[in-house]
Amino acid sequence: MKRTILFTASFVFICSIIHAQKTIAIKCGQLFNSRSGTVASNQVIVVKGNIIESVQPLASFHQTTDSVIDLSQYFVLPGLIDCHTHILLQGDITSEDYNVQLLKESVPYRTIRAVRSCSIALQNGFTTLRDLGTEGAGFADVDVKKAINNGVISGPRLFVSTLAINTTGHYPIKTSEYAWELQMPKGLQEITGADEGRKAVRQQLEHGADWIKVYADRSYYKLKDGSYRALPNFTPEEINAIGDETLRSGKNFAAHAMTRDGIIAAINAGARSIEHGSGMDEECMKLMAAKGIYWCPTIFVNDYVAEGRAKLGSPINLYFKQSMPDIFKRAVLAGVKVAYGTDIGGYDWSLPQAKDFEYFVQWGMHPAQAIQTATITAAQLLQQEGMIGEITSGAFADIIAIKGDPIQNIRLLQHVQWVMKDGKVYK
Ligand SMILES: [Zn+2]
Repeated sequence: MKRTILFTASFVFICSIIHAQKTIAIKCGQLFNSRSGTVASNQVIVVKGNIIESVQPLASFHQTTDSVIDLSQYFVLPGLIDCHTHILLQGDITSEDYNVQLLKESVPYRTIRAVRSCSIALQNGFTTLRDLGTEGAGFADVDVKKAINNGVISGPRLFVSTLAINTTGHYPIKTSEYAWELQMPKGLQEITGADEGRKAVRQQLEHGADWIKVYADRSYYKLKDGSYRALPNFTPEEINAIGDETLRSGKNFAAHAMTRDGIIAAINAGARSIEHGSGMDEECMKLMAAKGIYWCPTIFVNDYVAEGRAKLGSPINLYFKQSMPDIFKRAVLAGVKVAYGTDIGGYDWSLPQAKDFEYFVQWGMHPAQAIQTATITAAQLLQQEGMIGEITSGAFADIIAIKGDPIQNIRLLQHVQWVMKDGKVYK
């Protein structure tokens, strides 16, 4: 008995040596507090393993750590969070761009490209992504997440939503574009009826979806008075069943919805975030503000596809581009919570992921508030408050650094120079 105790004690001791978590002191010239939106000078972050242990002024710091990283010439902030990405997509201005990826690229090939998307995101300073649909690549997002979490590849923390859900016949690849005898692959899971909606949610959660994504409207158009309308994709029974099934499983859903026809149906079904919302009206804004529903405005992607799609006879994105500054200003004024979401993958991964910050500031948001959309607010949307999106004791050590002050020049967020995720330096 005694020998066993002795053995156990020495075993624990040896293990603690092997697994002794290294401490790192990171000296910060400027440190952004995402909760208050303020900046403090000359601070030290102590990281132990993958967790932030403490944040304190340099003047009162006397602790010995295993190593020191000197960022005293840098502006330090929490790793950024992009709440709307598609790691398995590589830009789709036209339906042809999209179809080529689904018809000519195998899922393994697309997954290899997704690994690169993840690497780019991390280098861009985005240490967390909510990926909203694999666009025909099955459950490959779950595999990429698994590979990242197991240390097989490097990439951001992923919250994945697998297939996404829409109703039969309302999503590419459209059979009407090809010979009708062909069975075209679909960019998501199609359902008809409330039961199929519930089944889709259950299947996706079973396969590892962290979030459910639905497409609430389509065929957007502009009325003479400048307002926007669309066709709702789901019957109320269908979308309510999807919402109910998601929420009863302890998960949440994001709704692609451009106009009131999709937005209000999604809100009534319990959506936690509205994606794009490019044609939202006053009533949507009021409802979203009152219910605390998050908005991922995805600005740059709309501008990126606008001209190309207009040339092909679909000018709606051009209209959205023209009305977006006004809609954005009114929504912020109405108190809608903006969470940073780019829809990157909808545009090429080689283009800036931090571009939307520029629009936010141009349209009147304070730069600190713009950074909050991709830090504290995004963490709240993901229900990860205290773990990501802020530099505070107990949070994951997801930290980035920039040369220069992004509060003075928001474009600097496109030039992240140093990236730490989970206590490990990647850039
Ligand atoms: Zn999207």
